Amino acid sequence: MERLQKVLAQAGIASRRKCEEIILAGRVTVNGEVVNQLGAKADPSTDEIKVDGKSITSEKKIYIIFNKPKGVITSASDPEGRKVIKDYLKGIQERVYPVGRLDYDTEGLLIMTNDGEFANLLTHPKHHVPKTYRATVRGIPHGDKLEKLRVGIKLEDGMTAPAELEYHDIDEERKQATISITIYEGRNRQVRRMFDAIHHPVEKLKRVQFGPILLSNLKRGTYRHLTPGEVQELM
Ligand code: URA
Repeated sequence: MERLQKVLAQAGIASRRKCEEIILAGRVTVNGEVVNQLGAKADPSTDEIKVDGKSITSEKKIYIIFNKPKGVITSASDPEGRKVIKDYLKGIQERVYPVGRLDYDTEGLLIMTNDGEFANLLTHPKHHVPKTYRATVRGIPHGDKLEKLRVGIKLEDGMTAPAELEYHDIDEERKQATISITIYEGRNRQVRRMFDAIHHPVEKLKRVQFGPILLSNLKRGTYRHLTPGEVQELM
């Protein structure tokens, strides 16, 4: 949140001094309400701010969290006619795109936005946003093997950075283990390739956390808007 005159000035409307006059003249609305006092604050990434009825950003920025089901492709359209995320975002008018990707067979937390700068920031390799997955793998990996993944393991595209791993559930009958794994990179099919490297292939993969944002009990195939506080925490 910034003072409204600063937000307007930063959007290139006029100097800060002139923007104060514009506010006092009652020419500014925030989310449809006239704001004609100088103490007001606003957030250009989540509030719709208009001067003389014209939005100061070309489109209101929106940020949503979606629980992607397995069997849905993370792209705008699919030539093979498979389900795409857009099929689940009825009610969203803006053209949003995913912050990073999840494989076709991976489910869970995906952030979608029309804020390109925000998306680039979060997916930039330098940014190291922690991403936590629940990986159900074939067999029950020994602690030594998990340690290899913790330290870093050699994949075709180089060593992985240190990761955090812990057992989440062990199913002796099915000979499966569910491991919680947090990685700080975002290479293609990284979690699957890491477990392949220790010979415990992933049978089910779900992302449960992205930076500070938790999937929690958001129903599969549904979405919700992130709160301004959550957006702020991500930035
Ligand atoms: N790692 C994977 O292997 N797949 C995903 O979808 C995400 C991370």
